[in-house]
Amino acid sequence: MKNQNISPEVKHLVLIGGGHSHLFVLKQLGMNPVPGLRTTLISRDINTPYSGSLPGHISGLYEYDDIHIDLRPLAQFAGVSLIQEQISDIDLSTKTIRCNNRPDIEFDFISLNIGSRPDAVKIPGAAEHAIGIKPIDKFLQEWNRISTDAISRIESRSDYSMLIVGGGPASVEFALAAQQKIHKELKIKKYQDSPFRIRIVSADSKLLSTHNSRVQEYIAAELSRRAIEVKLNFRVEKFEAGTAISENESRMDADSMIFATGASIPEWPANCGLDMSDDGFIKVNDFLQSTSHEFVFAAGDAATIHKEPRPKSGVYAVRQGKPLAENLIRYATSKKLKPFTPQKHALALINMGNKTAIASRNKLFFQGRSAWHLKDSIDSRFLKNFSQFPEMNSVLNVAEGLMDKESKDELQQHAMRCAGCGAKVSGSILDETLDLLPKTDSADILSSGSRIEDAAVISLEKNRVLLQSVDQIKAFINDPWLFARIATNHCLSDIYAMGAEAHSALAVVGVPLASKKLIRSQLSELMLGCAEALKENECSLIGGHSSETSELQFGLSVNGFAEKDGLLSKEGMNIGDVLILTKALGTGTLFAADMRYKAKHVWINNALEQMLISNRLSSQCFVQHKATSCTDVTGFGLAGHLFEMLETRSIEVEMNLSEIPALSGALDTLQQGIISSLHKDNSVLARDIYNSEAFLKDPKFDLLFDPQTSGGLLASVPIEEAENCLKKLHSLGLADATIIGRVSKVNAALPAIILR
Ligand SMILES: Cc1cc2nc3c(=O)[nH]c(=O)nc-3n(C[C@H](O)[C@H](O)[C@H](O)COP(=O)(O)OP(=O)(O)OC[C@H]3O[C@@H](n4cnc5c(N)ncnc54)[C@H](O)[C@@H]3O)c2cc1C
Repeated sequence: MKNQNISPEVKHLVLIGGGHSHLFVLKQLGMNPVPGLRTTLISRDINTPYSGSLPGHISGLYEYDDIHIDLRPLAQFAGVSLIQEQISDIDLSTKTIRCNNRPDIEFDFISLNIGSRPDAVKIPGAAEHAIGIKPIDKFLQEWNRISTDAISRIESRSDYSMLIVGGGPASVEFALAAQQKIHKELKIKKYQDSPFRIRIVSADSKLLSTHNSRVQEYIAAELSRRAIEVKLNFRVEKFEAGTAISENESRMDADSMIFATGASIPEWPANCGLDMSDDGFIKVNDFLQSTSHEFVFAAGDAATIHKEPRPKSGVYAVRQGKPLAENLIRYATSKKLKPFTPQKHALALINMGNKTAIASRNKLFFQGRSAWHLKDSIDSRFLKNFSQFPEMNSVLNVAEGLMDKESKDELQQHAMRCAGCGAKVSGSILDETLDLLPKTDSADILSSGSRIEDAAVISLEKNRVLLQSVDQIKAFINDPWLFARIATNHCLSDIYAMGAEAHSALAVVGVPLASKKLIRSQLSELMLGCAEALKENECSLIGGHSSETSELQFGLSVNGFAEKDGLLSKEGMNIGDVLILTKALGTGTLFAADMRYKAKHVWINNALEQMLISNRLSSQCFVQHKATSCTDVTGFGLAGHLFEMLETRSIEVEMNLSEIPALSGALDTLQQGIISSLHKDNSVLARDIYNSEAFLKDPKFDLLFDPQTSGGLLASVPIEEAENCLKKLHSLGLADATIIGRVSKVNAALPAIILR
């Protein structure tokens, strides 16, 4: 019997939190995928900070990107769906994660690596009057504000005082780094009598109480040398505006107050019913598995290993990564779990803010530049390990000799097929095929001429017409709910391009083979996404069809009704009209980069936000402002769709290349040569751009051929309407809407784009 290689998804692992331990799980899944295991990562932060390098960033040594791991490329490498959400409720009885901004997520087993926050959050007044050092991203925003304020106050000859609550390494490192930064900015040379005053208060009788005495002595001396005051045995009981108040009512005033006290976790894991350890963290056994729920794993600061508790530090979270990954895979594949015993002592490298560090482990102590170099190299190696991945290769499975070298090179170049609109059949193949077909000459089909409109138009009684369109795309992100919302907008766009309203739609859904439970959850996520987007567009879902496909797909056949006279079409541009494009370009190259783990989260997030914008309001705006023609920019790129409009009456347009709006990151990825599958076919049109040669090196030139998924509308508008039309589009949230050119000639020898 012949074997067929299929890999249906049958179990769902959800990782909650993008902490240090989960980084290893993701890397492991990328290096050694587990066929049949679907994995989702849900994290509050997608740019996950590496706290060990935070003081270096505060002091100005490292840039923001140097201390963050972008979870997007890592998740792509791991083949893991990525969802940005803050979870605060899990129904362990039904194995369902309750989400705030999207449908709930079902799982078979989960792992929690959600980190910790300083326990001072519980002190009255902390939320209003002080700032926690974690979550780090929130803290960094506050630090920017504080440092700017401190600098401007000192520049205008006032003093500035900062109070840091907590006696551990995080407090000390932050104090030294903050001082370094402000002194450097203001060129303050002496520590004594500095106008930037720092005080550390701690409830303990010593700083760094878990470290050896030589470390403690060195730190105490160094803080004193740098005029950083330390007040011990001061337990803050309350924060008021500008004051920390101790248990015996002593007050400590400051312009800003920061707390970096011992770790704690929020109450929701306990409220969900998970066993908690005496110190208030998720209680796990030596398999890193919850002692109350065998399908829940936990690691890092948020967990305490029942028989082997350790201080809350990144080193232990890192060390738990590999055993956690191994046990999650063993659990998934019904293998015996392996016990893990954390090391007794960990090496701590404390950054002294001036390119020196202290090394501390049990009784070991050394300090100086060598310790700092050691820290710098360990930290940068760690960050690199989760930010650089092997190149992705696609293998062409075609028997040797079946094709010539040219065809092989051609196919190999684009063997990694894009999804979304980057996976459309090329325009030239489509045209050739359509030419083979018999023409319809029914009088009531108004769109049957040589010109292809965005939707078919069927005449009804009087002036009324029915519009019909169909579109279907392959999932370009592995989040069915988000994909369906975007795909729905994409499919509705053909109706809006014609200036009509969508009335109803039928869905065509393709879901890959999986266990019944996973098919049900994928299908429900898809359809809930579709329903949500249709509701926003006041369009009803009236039917559909589903089938099993090799990849997730979604499409809609859409009906719209309109008055025939009110329709927009691709024909109709007049001399002097201006061209307005409503959305920035670049989705093709960005998602091609995403597939290759080369796109930043911020780029993709920004592109997704734009793709979620329906073209409905832009369409209404164009109708209101007397647009003379309109289309939507999708798979054939701006140039391809514009040429479709120009061909109708041999029109010439002048287009200002520098004005064409680009999505953030799109020019970077194009410059790296990352293009989507359809780009090359689209770019054949470059030869028809009148003066293309002068612009070939301009990265924006390539953008003209980039296939768009859920792209914007392109319309020509009479010049006298242009300014108001653009203002209106901006007010509707289409911040990137731009005038990109104007119509210079109608009935020219050939249709042409002239670049300026
Ligand atoms: C200034 C400073 C310096 C430090 N320096 C060091 C050092 O040099 N060495 C060291 O070993 N330790 C250091 N630490 C301690 C270290 O930060 C922690 O021990 C470590 O970050 C814990 O890692 P983790 O994997 O448990 O979680 P984290 O790295 O904190 O990650 C938690 C993740 O969970 C996500 N998350 C949280 N809650 C939710 C939720 N409800 N839903 C979804 N996602 C969620 C977050 O977005 C984040 O991605 C330092 C701490 C600070 C504050």
